[in-house]
Amino acid sequence: MVIEKNINNNQLKIINNQLIRIAPLLLLVILGGCKARQLARPTPQMDIEAQFWVRVLLLDDVTDCKLKTRSPFSIGTRDNSIATRQHFGQVNVPINVSVSGGRITIGSQHFVSNEVIISPDEPYIFNLNGNDYRGKLKLITNPEDKSFDAVNLVPLEPYLAGVVGAEMPNYWEPAALQAQAIAARTYCLYMKKRFGSKRSWDVKRTQASQVYLGVKAESAQVWEAVNRTYGQVLVCKGPGGTEGIFPAYYSSVCGGYTENSKHVFGDFFEALAGVACPYCKDVAKPDFFFWPMVQFDKAYVTNRLLRRYPKLKRLGEIRNIRAAKQSDYQGNYGRYSRLTLVKLLGSTGKSDFLRAEDFRLAIDRSGRKIKSTICQIVNWGDKWAFMSGRGYGHGVGMCQCGAQGMARKGKTARQILGFYYPGSKILTIDY
Ligand SMILES: [Zn+2]
Repeated sequence: MVIEKNINNNQLKIINNQLIRIAPLLLLVILGGCKARQLARPTPQMDIEAQFWVRVLLLDDVTDCKLKTRSPFSIGTRDNSIATRQHFGQVNVPINVSVSGGRITIGSQHFVSNEVIISPDEPYIFNLNGNDYRGKLKLITNPEDKSFDAVNLVPLEPYLAGVVGAEMPNYWEPAALQAQAIAARTYCLYMKKRFGSKRSWDVKRTQASQVYLGVKAESAQVWEAVNRTYGQVLVCKGPGGTEGIFPAYYSSVCGGYTENSKHVFGDFFEALAGVACPYCKDVAKPDFFFWPMVQFDKAYVTNRLLRRYPKLKRLGEIRNIRAAKQSDYQGNYGRYSRLTLVKLLGSTGKSDFLRAEDFRLAIDRSGRKIKSTICQIVNWGDKWAFMSGRGYGHGVGMCQCGAQGMARKGKTARQILGFYYPGSKILTIDY
């Protein structure tokens, strides 16, 4: 008010013009500030019980990596059951982490213990090889002490924020993002319960489990989906008839019909029996719904299969590949089949079988070329051709593009999950 009294109209106009000119700059500064604040938001659930921490395998069998922190941190070790903890200042410039002679070296510090836990102070974020992750970092030397694994210890909800934003575009419908959060929470807890006690990690950071990118996958929309579904998991009847969480698989584009988990992963759950999906066609990129033919040299295919499955060596060169089992569907776009088992015939006259999904990923590890097992395998001179392909991913459980299609039609997360996991219920974990 005082300022207005002391300046005339002309001066006001100048100030207004200047404001207009600097407005975009101001907006950038404000947005930049928001982004920085979002990143610095302290990691929630840091004091939650151990059973709700997720152990994500970030690096497998490596000899070195780069570490940076945005806050002071401590390093805890355990040697002959004696625990020690040392504090260090923030590390702005990446420092080298390596292993030699069984000792983990961080910067210039050597640690005798074969397990080291790095715990950053608030906001509880560390940077490994250029990527920010929430929680803690555990380094574990491998049996011969020549390499190590890097495992991110992260509470469940912030872990999910790093998954939902990696598995779905954050501009998709809130209901689709919420369905994704609940499916990912269920899948993770199931994997932890089923396999976690037998190994030093619960899930991989790749599509082998579910994609986890840490802080860079986060956004306001993703946190909204995670927070709105806080603690919600799916349960259904398992093989023994008892109700519990199940591996809530999901994949990108089912191609018209989701597949029974029994045919792809070998496990049976009522909610994973498969449903007709009319929702993904309009959402998926055309090249993902009907994908173009791809070819691979026969020698390459033999090589890849033998490397992944040494038991196949007795077959010699792979001479023929046949569909041994398939699921047949009649959908809106005609009849089609998803291969579930392939028979391989070798130059030695011997033969063997592989699950079609394992066969696909052995040849094309990324799964980006042979996008699904809804295809025909054709003997094409010195190549194998994969033709008439449809859909992207293994096809079990929720169809992610279908979830977005349902959300666009106004369906809620509960309705989406009820459709793709029939017979399932949502329960809320209290933590
Ligand atoms: Zn679908």
